[in-house]
Amino acid sequence: MVVSSTANDPGESLHATFGSRYVRSSLPRFKLPENSIPREAAYQIISDELMLDGNPRLNLASFVTTWMEPECDRLIMSAINKNYVDMDEYPVTTELQNRCVNMIAHLFNAPIGGKETAVGVGTVGSSEAIMLAGLAFKRKWQNKRKAEGKPYDKPNIVVGANLQVCWEKFARYFEVELKEVNLREGLYIMDPVNAVEMVDGNTICVVATFGSTLTGEFEDVKKINELLVEKNKETGWDTPIHVDAASGGFIAPFLYPELEWDFRLPLVKSINVSGHKYGLVYAGVGWVVWRNKDDLPEELIFHINYLGADQPTFTLNFSKGNIHRFLILAGSSQIIAQYYQFIRLGFEGYKDIIVNCMDNAKSLRQGIEETGKFEVLSKDSGVPVVAFALKSTSEHTVFEISENMRRFGWIIPAYTMPPDAEHVAVLRVVIREDFCRSLAERLVSDLRKVLVDAEGVQADDGGSEKKAKYWRRVVDRKKTSGVC
Ligand SMILES: *Cc1c(COP(=O)(O)O)cnc(C)c1O
Repeated sequence: MVVSSTANDPGESLHATFGSRYVRSSLPRFKLPENSIPREAAYQIISDELMLDGNPRLNLASFVTTWMEPECDRLIMSAINKNYVDMDEYPVTTELQNRCVNMIAHLFNAPIGGKETAVGVGTVGSSEAIMLAGLAFKRKWQNKRKAEGKPYDKPNIVVGANLQVCWEKFARYFEVELKEVNLREGLYIMDPVNAVEMVDGNTICVVATFGSTLTGEFEDVKKINELLVEKNKETGWDTPIHVDAASGGFIAPFLYPELEWDFRLPLVKSINVSGHKYGLVYAGVGWVVWRNKDDLPEELIFHINYLGADQPTFTLNFSKGNIHRFLILAGSSQIIAQYYQFIRLGFEGYKDIIVNCMDNAKSLRQGIEETGKFEVLSKDSGVPVVAFALKSTSEHTVFEISENMRRFGWIIPAYTMPPDAEHVAVLRVVIREDFCRSLAERLVSDLRKVLVDAEGVQADDGGSEKKAKYWRRVVDRKKTSGVC
């Protein structure tokens, strides 16, 4: 949500195209209108204006699901008026969330049925899931330090500099220091050795990013676990691991079932995943699962009883139009949609879709490489993302390419890598289910046009003035932008 500021001219009015068939007077843009208007007019005015938004299918910046089946759309619409905090009133939706948590816990190989009991929560997305997981680590560490009579005021998290921005939010909102493991040219994920070296007695957890936002690569959770087990043995600490599997959590189980990154590793205490990324649900659902109920300190759970029976909740928000609560609870529409995808697709369906995305990523990668102008930095395994940089001989920048691709309607973010690889700038395309082969071909052909236009201008006079005019330069784009 962008922070909005108030307008200088609150009297400014809105001009509607077809809305004028229903209403004569124009609507104030920034003030509550004096009078009511007919519902057809309200509908028309808003849908006319929304037409100017970009086409979600051409938005290659986002991992978030932009297409679901019409049957699922119908289920979502029929649940949109359920506030999920009223769990007692909606026992079936609550039961569906419970089933989803269980399915995900199984998918992530949580030890179920023995001494340990995995618990989980539906959230608005991985960001909320990460706040909750981070709080649980912080509280657990503080309790332990208090019991040992040691200071507990300087908690830190060790994480790669390729971290997603929500970890910075967590750190700032909940006063935890981030100890970032720097990258280097050619290595765009966290180095396990460097990470474990940075762990100290104040480290509440090491975060492994499983599906880096920058290149889609998986971090080596197994290696981190191995090194950390050793370090814990030497020092007497019990530093745990959290896996941020926002995008990779619904990739690896289907594509690489042998890869050990989840609860099969003993130090992995919690994992988050975004239901609205490769969980294939529209925006508004994420999940966090803890290995064992002891990994979630009891004092963080609120028991509410004024809406019906006692319900344990762990969440940052109360009402969620369609969403979420703790342990048996997430959001009505999105939970129903997640459950729909789970039973509709099953393991087989998810696998087919992900394999298809990987194939499309591969063909896009080839097309991009064939232009001869780019170097692809993303790997063949990992999340289906194609991250590519201009070859160092290029006179242009990825920011110019990104800007010029907008002429064709494509939204492709460009960004510089975090320290110590700031000098590397890349473009990134996220392959979602709705990004088909023909779109990949069109993308490469538009990319070629942008390149040819650039060369043409160069050949024309080689002069910098004309070129500068043609290429709208984008300055001040130092930080990752439009990457979610
Ligand atoms: C997308 C993403 C997040 C944030 O997830 P939301 O579901 O959008 O809140 C966190 N970490 C990683 C690695 C991500 O890719």
